[in-house]
Amino acid sequence: MMRFDIMTLFPDLVNTVLGESIIGRAQKSGAIEVHTHNIRDYTEDKHRRVDDTPYGGGKGMLMMAPPIFNCYQAILSQQATDGFEAKNRRVIYLSPTGKVLNQARAAELAAEYDNLILLCGHYEGVDRRIVDEIVDEEISIGDFILTGGEIPACILTDCVARLVDGVLSDAECYEKESISSGLLEYPQYTRPYEYHGVKVPDVLISGHHANIDRWREEQALEMTKNLRPDLLEDR
Ligand code: SAM
Repeated sequence: MMRFDIMTLFPDLVNTVLGESIIGRAQKSGAIEVHTHNIRDYTEDKHRRVDDTPYGGGKGMLMMAPPIFNCYQAILSQQATDGFEAKNRRVIYLSPTGKVLNQARAAELAAEYDNLILLCGHYEGVDRRIVDEIVDEEISIGDFILTGGEIPACILTDCVARLVDGVLSDAECYEKESISSGLLEYPQYTRPYEYHGVKVPDVLISGHHANIDRWREEQALEMTKNLRPDLLEDR
C-alpha cells in the first residue's frame, strides 16, 4: 500500500482528478490512499492569508512558510492517529526547478517509498525556507510553467500509483508500454475489423503468436525510429 498526502490550496481539484477511473478504484480497493490537505486550514493569520509579496520586490505573491509547515506537521500527526507508520517517506515539492520526471524515477519512487508527501506551489511559488526545511526532492513534470502544482501532483500520483501492487490487474499492462519498455508501443487495433476502408493487419488475426510478437517488435522499433529516435541512442 502506498499513501499519498497532498498539500494544496485546491484540494477539490486534486480529489476530482484522482477520484475517477483506475486511481479512484485503487483508492476504494485500498491499494493506495490519497489524502488531500488544505494549506489554508493551517494559516495563523486571522484573514486566512497564505501568501505575501516577495522580499526584494518583484511581481506576484509567494506562499508563506508557516502554513505549509503547520500543514506538514498535521499530516504527520494524522498519520499517527490513522495508525499509519511510514517505513520510508519522501517529501516532494512539485516545481519547475526540479529534475524532470520520467518513468524510471516513477518506478524508483513506487519501489522505495510507502508514503509520498507532495507540496503544490501556487502563484510565484513558495518561500525557499520551507523547501530547505522539509523537502527531500523537487520534481518537475516538464520544461514549461503551469499556474500551480496541483496538476503536476496528480500526474506524479497517477504515474507512481499505477506501478503500485494491486492497482493494475496485470504487471504486463505497464511492462510492455511505451517508454517503460525502452521503446514506443507497437500500434494496436480492436473491433471493427474494417474501419473507413482500413483493415486490421493480417498478422494480428493469424493466430500465430510468434509471428505476432515479431511483428510487434518490428513495429515498436519502427515507431521509435520515426517518432523518438533519442530513445534508441542508449540501446
Ligand atoms: N516562480 C516559479 C519559477 O520561476 O520557478 C514558478 C512558479 S509556478 C507559476 C507556480 C507553481 O506551479 C510552482 O510553485 C509549482 O508548484 C507549480 N509548477 C509550475 N510548473 C511546474 C512544472 N513544470 N512542474 C512541476 N510543478 C510546476
